[in-house]
Amino acid sequence: MSEKFIPYGRQTIAEEDLAAVRDVLLSDWLTTGPKVGAFEKEFAAFCGAGQAVAVNSGTAALHCAMNAIGVGPGDEVIVPAITFAATANAAIYEGATPVFADIEADTLLIDPDNIAERITPKTKAIAAVDYAGQPADYDAIQEIAATHGLRIIADACHSPGATYKGRSVGTLADISAFSFHPVKHITTGEGGLATTDDGALAETMRRFRNHGIDTDHKMRAERGLFAYDMAVLGYNYRLNDIQCALGMAQLSRLRQWVAARQAIAARYDVAFAAMEHVAPLVTRADRTNAHHLYVIRLAGGSEGYRDRAFAQLRDRGIGANVHYAPVYYHSYYKNRFGHGPGLCPVAEEVYETILTLPVYPTMTESDADRVIAEVDALSSLA
Ligand SMILES: *Cc1c(COP(=O)(O)O)cnc(C)c1O
Repeated sequence: MSEKFIPYGRQTIAEEDLAAVRDVLLSDWLTTGPKVGAFEKEFAAFCGAGQAVAVNSGTAALHCAMNAIGVGPGDEVIVPAITFAATANAAIYEGATPVFADIEADTLLIDPDNIAERITPKTKAIAAVDYAGQPADYDAIQEIAATHGLRIIADACHSPGATYKGRSVGTLADISAFSFHPVKHITTGEGGLATTDDGALAETMRRFRNHGIDTDHKMRAERGLFAYDMAVLGYNYRLNDIQCALGMAQLSRLRQWVAARQAIAARYDVAFAAMEHVAPLVTRADRTNAHHLYVIRLAGGSEGYRDRAFAQLRDRGIGANVHYAPVYYHSYYKNRFGHGPGLCPVAEEVYETILTLPVYPTMTESDADRVIAEVDALSSLA
């Protein structure tokens, strides 16, 4: 029983990443230098988006997005109940209130019908999440947004490289947010980025990531200026040149890594179709799935089945995980907003059944087959 532990996700670092980082370390610019703009240009081109703004986390990208579209005190932002807390936290950073919408049980994506039910005169924006790597239903969301004059933010931290009706993630909302945390598709250690087709939104986010100052150190050096103005309150959310060089080296392999994730997911899909106790999430026919995560629901079973299954997988060296508890289960949300059970019944029910299984580009077929065998063995725990 000394088989290696298979984590649920893992970064891929190669010689070319090391070389890119080394070159920057020996150059004149360690932070905001030529690599930032170059990485932004390449990422925007990857998505087919007009503009990209690099920042130092996915959370910062979401915060920049909320600020740029004018989310503020008194506003409400609709977010799905099942996501990483940062999606909702970003609205709170700007003084707004996140309003949780329920999800679809077979995709865990935000349910457009439920969004419509949660709109009030205070609603300012909808923050959709491309859960596990599948784009949300942006046409349906856009229709609601247009009717009520709302902005749309895509939390695309799971979905770079995916498509919706042939259109690329990064172009499906007013602003799309990405993360370069090591467990995501590409990494800069920590990092993030926002894409938009709106030049004014991009400019607002560039200023916001740099304290609210409208020039950066490199721009002033080039123009021989010392003076600058801080016109609005911003943050230091800059991604540095070392990280952007790493990001570019990683980005050059992103397509092949998405394909590798999809191949593992396809292998899982075939195997799990034959297992009665397993129901994988569904990818809709009009979308592709970038598979940041591969998530199954356990079908049937008595109370606590998922927790028993999780424990057995971990015992046997499979890095299962659970993404995510409804955000409003967290004590901060309970204490601040008084949310209790019943707010989003589908999310609450499905949460008790979900398990995230390992998927990452360097995972081998025999790793995947070991996961499949261990998932098969879970039927005896029902
Ligand atoms: C990873 C992630 C974030 C936050 O990204 P960080 O880079 O860790 O700040 C936000 N939303 C979702 C859905 C994520 O998975």
